[in-house]
Amino acid sequence: MATATDGEIELIRAFVRQLTSRYDRGYWVQRAEAGQDVEEMWQELAAAGFLGVTVPEEYGGSGLSMQRLAVLMEELGNHGVPLLFLVVSTAMGCIPIAKYGTEEQKRRYLPAMAEGRERFCFAITEPDAGSNSFRIKTRARRDGDDYLLTGQKAFISGADRAQHMLVVVRTSPADAVSDKREGMSLLIVDTAAPGVTLNRMDTRLLMPEKQFEIFFDDVRVPRANLVGEEGRGLRAIFDALNPERIVGAAMGVGIGRYALSKAVEYAKTRRVFGVPIGAHQGLAHPMAEARTHLELAALMAHHAARVFDEGGEAGPYANMAKFAAGEAAIEAVDLAMQVHGGSGFTGEVDLITLWPVARLLRTAPVSREMILNYIGEHVLGLPRSY
Ligand SMILES: Cc1cc2nc3c(=O)[nH]c(=O)nc-3n(C[C@H](O)[C@H](O)[C@H](O)COP(=O)(O)OP(=O)(O)OC[C@H]3O[C@@H](n4cnc5c(N)ncnc54)[C@H](O)[C@@H]3O)c2cc1C
Repeated sequence: MATATDGEIELIRAFVRQLTSRYDRGYWVQRAEAGQDVEEMWQELAAAGFLGVTVPEEYGGSGLSMQRLAVLMEELGNHGVPLLFLVVSTAMGCIPIAKYGTEEQKRRYLPAMAEGRERFCFAITEPDAGSNSFRIKTRARRDGDDYLLTGQKAFISGADRAQHMLVVVRTSPADAVSDKREGMSLLIVDTAAPGVTLNRMDTRLLMPEKQFEIFFDDVRVPRANLVGEEGRGLRAIFDALNPERIVGAAMGVGIGRYALSKAVEYAKTRRVFGVPIGAHQGLAHPMAEARTHLELAALMAHHAARVFDEGGEAGPYANMAKFAAGEAAIEAVDLAMQVHGGSGFTGEVDLITLWPVARLLRTAPVSREMILNYIGEHVLGLPRSY
């Protein structure tokens, strides 16, 4: 996998600064409010080669690099324009296919994603299983050269704008295997395939990408669409979930910095008792703390990305980065609102719209509690309670 040099990282940041001078927070908010995609911005990212940061060079990308993707997302967040498709498609769609896909799958999907022609969403969550992903019931049964897929997913981001989805399925039900980790598989499914139904969910975040329930009613999926080994898909699944946590962390760092920078500017100019409000330590110290927490989270996200790129065990760092960044983003956005007083609630200041996005990071893509469970069990070696 490709490791990113300081020069490459600065190039990404410089490109995003230039891109976001044209596609700024105002553009992003207006599109999200209208329920529209940010297609032109996405296409410019593709044309400049940045959707290929997780695609190996032989398939039209610049090499599989989590570091480059994390910096790209972080910098977009720094300007208040995070793109969820960088999580669900560029990270979770490209990486499992690049690492575990067949030659045919790589040729079919990776260039199309790098060029911005096609996108993936990623579907693991089910209403009954919740955080206990081993209990998913979406089932793929063999039928000749196909699988027949039945089941239901929930909260799937961007399903209406994606041509394909990576679906986590059971090829053997949980009660038919001695080890719950067996029988999990990863399938590529077209969102427009007969038997697939999408229902928009009533999630109230201001983002261009919406959430969907997805129903599979005997959906015929060629066996050639299996990513990795049948029943042994866990490694491929975790190689999607760790990148999701790293890019999610980068997004948290970015939007936290964006909110905090607005607060700092306001605190320098707003005078209530004759001095700028930023002179009061009651505001200055929490802002200094919030900045410290954001930078620590950024370091952990970059470290997790580097470990992933070097082929190491990125799980502990990806989880810690996601935890730290989620909490730091919430702290920064909440504080930025506090610094703005009543104006923090206005559309003009546009911080209130960031609150649900920051708060989401405590719940998704993996909840705060499940991250702490992971760290308790896998890093500290504590017994598990569930
Ligand atoms: C806006 C949004 C976008 C999303 N996008 C996607 C997507 O694209 N693809 C996808 O597959 N999913 C997606 N999700 C789903 C998301 O990953 C889940 O909502 C999340 O993992 C939590 O699962 P759950 O909602 O089933 O909560 P539950 O598992 O029901 O948990 C409820 C609460 O109980 C706690 N809890 C559960 N078990 C334990 C335990 N053992 N110890 C301590 N606490 C516990 C949880 O931490 C949580 O606080 C999205 C969700 C949202 C809100």
